[in-house]
Amino acid sequence: MVERRVIEVTGVVQGIGFRPFVHRLARSCQLSGYVRNNGRGVVIEVQGEGASLDGFEDRLFRDLPPGGRIDRSDRRPLPPEPAQNEFIIRESESRDRTIVSLAPDRSVCSDCLSELNDPSDRRYQYPFINCTACGPRYTIAMALPYDRPLTTMAEFDMCDSCRAEYSDPSDRRYHAQPIACPACGPRASLVLTDELLASMEIPSPKEIFGPDAIRRSAALLLDGRILAVKGIGGFHLAVDAFNEGAVVRLRELKRRPRKPLAVMAGSLRVARQIVMLDSSTERLLLSPQAPIVLAPKRKGEAVPPLLAPGLGDLGVMLPYSPLHHLLFQQGLALLVMTSGNPPSEPITTDNREAREMLGADAVLSHNRDIHVANDDSVVRTSSLGPLLVRRSRGYVPEAIPVPHLPERPVLALGAELKSTVATLDGGQLVVGRHLGDLDNVRAEEAFAAEVARMLAFARLEPEVVAVDLHPDMASSQYGRERFSGTPIHPVQHHHAHMVAVMVEHGLPVNRMATGIILDGFGLGTDGAVWGGEVLRGGYSRVERVAHLRYVPLPGGDRAAVEPYRMATSYLWDAGFDEGSSDAFDSAVAQVAATQRVSPPTSSAGRLFDGVAALLGVAPRRMDFEGEAAARLEALADEEVTDGYPLPLDGEVLDTRGLIRAVMADSAAGPVRAARFINGLADGLVAAAMREETDVVVLGGGCLVNRLLLMRLVFRLRGSGKEVYFPTRLPSGDGGISAGQAACAACALDEEA
Ligand code: ZN
Ligand code: ZN
Ligand code: FE
Repeated sequence: MVERRVIEVTGVVQGIGFRPFVHRLARSCQLSGYVRNNGRGVVIEVQGEGASLDGFEDRLFRDLPPGGRIDRSDRRPLPPEPAQNEFIIRESESRDRTIVSLAPDRSVCSDCLSELNDPSDRRYQYPFINCTACGPRYTIAMALPYDRPLTTMAEFDMCDSCRAEYSDPSDRRYHAQPIACPACGPRASLVLTDELLASMEIPSPKEIFGPDAIRRSAALLLDGRILAVKGIGGFHLAVDAFNEGAVVRLRELKRRPRKPLAVMAGSLRVARQIVMLDSSTERLLLSPQAPIVLAPKRKGEAVPPLLAPGLGDLGVMLPYSPLHHLLFQQGLALLVMTSGNPPSEPITTDNREAREMLGADAVLSHNRDIHVANDDSVVRTSSLGPLLVRRSRGYVPEAIPVPHLPERPVLALGAELKSTVATLDGGQLVVGRHLGDLDNVRAEEAFAAEVARMLAFARLEPEVVAVDLHPDMASSQYGRERFSGTPIHPVQHHHAHMVAVMVEHGLPVNRMATGIILDGFGLGTDGAVWGGEVLRGGYSRVERVAHLRYVPLPGGDRAAVEPYRMATSYLWDAGFDEGSSDAFDSAVAQVAATQRVSPPTSSAGRLFDGVAALLGVAPRRMDFEGEAAARLEALADEEVTDGYPLPLDGEVLDTRGLIRAVMADSAAGPVRAARFINGLADGLVAAAMREETDVVVLGGGCLVNRLLLMRLVFRLRGSGKEVYFPTRLPSGDGGISAGQAACAACALDEEA
C-alpha cells in the first residue's frame, strides 16, 4: 500500500548536511520524493510503503547529523503520485523570508580526523579539512543564504576532485561550503619576526609554508617562544604551559599579571591530569562546540601555578581545529591558549594585525579569512551540571525556540560588560556572539557591525528596540541614535537578568516568579546602583521586595576595582573605624561619608569584594572582573555548613549583621569565607520565602560562584520552591539581551 506524506521540519537544519542526510535516508528506505528548504525550515515529501515511511521518520530524529536539532515537525498525508520513482534534492526558494538558523562553527569531526591521520588520504595532514558535519560556518559567512560565494571561501576555486564531492548528494561533503584540499584550498604559513630571526643561530626564511610551518611552530613553542595562532574565531597567543619563563613573558605582553589563562590540552588524558572532570564535562570538551571548561584544579604539582594564581579552577579546552590537532602531534602536551588581542581590544582576526599588534615571536596563520570574530565559549562545571559562562563560538547563532512568547519582532542591545545583542522573531530568540566590554572604540565598532549583521541574518525590522535602563551605557546611547524612529523600551538591568532565566526555561508568559538577582551593578529604578535584589513579578514587569542594605560606593567606579574601598565602606557602615582591620582606609572612609562622590549601592558583587578584602585574599587592585570574589570562593571550606546572620528588616537585608559576624569570628579564613557565603544565601532565601510564588528564579553574574548557587538551590528546593537558574545562557551580563528582548515583546503585547 503506497502512501505519500509531507513533513515540515524546523530547527537547526542548515549548514549541517541535513538535506544530503535526508536524501541518503530516503534512498535507503526506498522512498521517492524530494527535500528542500523553505521559509521556516525544511520540507520533505516522501512516498513509499507505510512501514518504510514510519521507519524513515523514526530515523530522521534518531540519526540526525551532529549539531542538528529538530524543534518541531508537522506531517500530513498527501495523495500518492504514481509516476514518481526517485528522491531528489530541490533548490532552495531563496525568496522566502528565512528564519532557518545558520549552524554554528563546529570542531573537526571524527571522520575528518581519521582522514587527517590517514597517509593514503588526499587530505592527509591538511589543516583545513572539513565536511558537512564540521568546520567553520558562522565565522566565514558574509551573508545568508549560507552558500560558498557568500563566504570567505569564495576566492578559492574548487579543484575537480573537491567539486565532484561537493556535487555528489551521497558524499559526506555534499554542499560543504568550506570544502578544500591541498590542491585548491587555503594553506598554513608561519611568519617570524625580525627580532626572532636575528636571534637565531641557524639562518631561517622569514616565512615558511605548509607542513613545515606547523613543524617549526611546534619547535618554537617547545623552545619557549610566544606564537600567535589563527583559530576559527580569531587568534590565540600560545606558549608552552610548562615553560614558566614563557608564561611570565606572555603575562607581561598581555599586561595581565594574574588573569587566569586558559590552556589547550593535547588530549583528554592530559586534561584529566590537571583538572577534575566528570562525564558531562568530558562530553562537553569533546563536543562540536568544544568550549573552554572551567574545572577544579587537581591538587599537587600537575598544574603550573602561574596559570590561574589563587583560584580553584583552571580553564581547559581540547584541540578543535585540524590545525590545532596537527600542532599537538608535534610533541606538545599543554599550551596556554589565551585570546590574542591588543590590550583591552576585541580579539584579533586579521593576519596583518596579528603580525603588527600582538607582539608574538611568530605568527602561525593561513589565508582563509575570518569574517566575524568569535571568542571561545566558557562553561563551568558544577554538581548541578555545566553552566555556560560565556556563550560564543560553537553556540552562536543557534536559536533558542521560544514558542511561548508573543510574536513581536524585537532587537535587544544588552548592557555594557560582556555585551551581546539579541533578536526575537517568529518564535526564535537568537543571542549573538560575545562582544566583550563596550569600553573602547574598537569594541563599539564591533558592536555596531554585530547589530547590522544580526538584523540582516534575521531579516528583522524591529517593532521595538530594548535597551538597559541606564541612559549613559554605550549600548543604550547607540540604540537611541541608530533607531531614532523606532520605539525604545528601557528594561531595568536586574529585571532583564530575571527574565533571561525565565526565557531559557520556557516559563509561560503569565507565570509569576520571585527573582534573586546578584551581580556587580545595574541602575535601579530609584537611581541607586543595584546588585543584590529580590524581585517579584514576571516578563513584563517586576517590583522589588527586598535588597541588600545600601552602602556607599566610595569614589564610584574605582570601588569596583579596588576591593579595600568596599571593605572600608562596609566597616564604616557597620560602625567600625580606624584600626578595626588592615583593610580599613581612613581616606576612603571620608570619601564614603561624602554622598556626592559615593552613590548608594546594594551590589552583591561589591559585598564579595569587601569581604574578600576583610579576609585578606583580595588584591589591592583587581586584574580582572570578579577576581576578589573568585579568590574568596577558592578560600571557602566546602565542609562548613553554618552561616553568619543576615537579618531581614522590612525590605532591607542588613549586611551590618554579616560584617559584624565576619569581624567577631576568630575562626580560620576558609571557615569564615564559607560562613559568609552560606549566610548571604540563607538571608536571601529567607527574603524570597516571604513571597507566595511557587517559582524562584536565580540570576546575575555572582552565580558563577558554585558554593553560592548550590546553597541557594538546595535551600529553596528544600523549602518546596521550584527553582530555575541559568545553564544555557550566561548568568552574567552576556544573558541580558535575551531578557531584554523577552521583556519588551511581552510589554508590547500587553499594550496592544
Ligand atoms: Zn568533518
Ligand atoms: Zn580541492
Ligand atoms: Fe548584571
